[in-house]
Amino acid sequence: MDPFTSQDRAALCEAAQAVSESGLVVGSAGNLSVRSGDGAHLLITPMGARLPAIDPDDLVCVAIADGAVDPGHARTSRPSSETPLHRAVYAAAGGRADLTAIVHTHSTFATALSAVVAELPAVHYVASAFGGPVRVAPYATYGSDDLAAGVAAALEGRSAALMANHGAVALGTSAAHAVEQAQQLEWWASVYWHARVFAGAGGEPAILSDAQLADVAEQHRALRYSAAATDTK
Ligand code: 13P
Ligand code: ZN
Repeated sequence: MDPFTSQDRAALCEAAQAVSESGLVVGSAGNLSVRSGDGAHLLITPMGARLPAIDPDDLVCVAIADGAVDPGHARTSRPSSETPLHRAVYAAAGGRADLTAIVHTHSTFATALSAVVAELPAVHYVASAFGGPVRVAPYATYGSDDLAAGVAAALEGRSAALMANHGAVALGTSAAHAVEQAQQLEWWASVYWHARVFAGAGGEPAILSDAQLADVAEQHRALRYSAAATDTK
């Protein structure tokens, strides 16, 4: 049975609109989902949807275990072609109960870098918020189980991944948070690109070490930075 409320549907449509307004997708690219509290279902954007104009009733509730569409789905909309990826990521993130939302984009810097590098290095301390340098999952056809498996593996210990020659995936604690993470990831990729351009004039970008990123995580905890960032919104 579909456990999602009208507020859940409105929040996902609002997040989809924010992805579009941030310029992270063009046309019908990209998709978003949230996971239900019991971990059994996901609510996902429809296949081929323009993200800024989704009707909440066109969102599709799918069982994570077998991909079955909720029998009560009354519209002709079909779940996103990347539903296998969203299901695989939630299944793999089983131990990370707080990560309940996924945003997939074709954002420019992340996508361009995905065609060149194997990993987005920690050129900025924002890497700490993603669990470290972000890996690039191998290329596979969109919507395929191979792509789903590759992305789920690339997310081990991370809350984002790039998808070679395709785009990016960011996880969050809510749809709005996952959108913010997708924006941060794109900004980080653009900073890395700019650093590489400057490095062309001589030198190499300095990359933060695991110890430096661990210090950032500790500072976040000590300052309760996340709470402050939320309070001031
Ligand atoms: P959907 O329109 O099916 O969500 O697909 C868009 C996409 O980005 C495929 O990777
Ligand atoms: Zn895509």
